[in-house]
Amino acid sequence: MQKGINQKVVMKVGILGGGLSGLSLANLLRHDFKILEKERECGGLCRTMQDQGFAFDYGGCHILFSKAVEAFKFMKVRRAGKDD
Ligand SMILES: Cc1cc2nc3c(=O)[nH]c(=O)nc-3n(C[C@H](O)[C@H](O)[C@H](O)COP(=O)(O)OP(=O)(O)OC[C@H]3O[C@@H](n4cnc5c(N)ncnc54)[C@H](O)[C@@H]3O)c2cc1C
Repeated sequence: MQKGINQKVVMKVGILGGGLSGLSLANLLRHDFKILEKERECGGLCRTMQDQGFAFDYGGCHILFSKAVEAFKFMKVRRAGKDD
C-alpha cells in the first residue's frame, strides 16, 4: 500500500482464484486488482469448454437461479449489463 499525490491510499488487491467469487469481487472492487488464477482461463466451475463445435459446461449450467432475491437481481444485472 502506498500514498498517491493527493494522499489517497493506493492499494492493489490480489484475488486468489478467478471463479465466480473472484470475478464478482473484482467487479465490485474500487481498487486496482490482479486475479491470480492457476488455470489458463478464469471461470472456475462456471467455465465452458469448446470441443469440435460442442460446448461442455464444467458445473453450474443453470447458474441464474437463486432463492436470494438480491443475489438473483445482482446476477441478472451484471450478466449483460441490463435488467430484463
Ligand atoms: C453441477 C453443478 C451445478 C451447479 N448449479 C448451480 C446453480 O444453479 N446456481 C448456483 O448459484 N450455483 C450452482 N453451482 C455452484 C457454482 O457453480 C459454484 O458455487 C461457484 O461456481 C463457485 O464459485 P467459486 O468462485 O467460489 O469457486 P470456483 O468456481 O471453484 O473457482 C475457484 C477458482 O480458484 C482457482 N484456484 C484454486 N486454487 C488456486 C490456487 N492455489 N491458485 C490460483 N487459483 C486457484 C480455481 O482454478 C478456480 O478457477 C453448481 C455447481 C455444480 C458443480
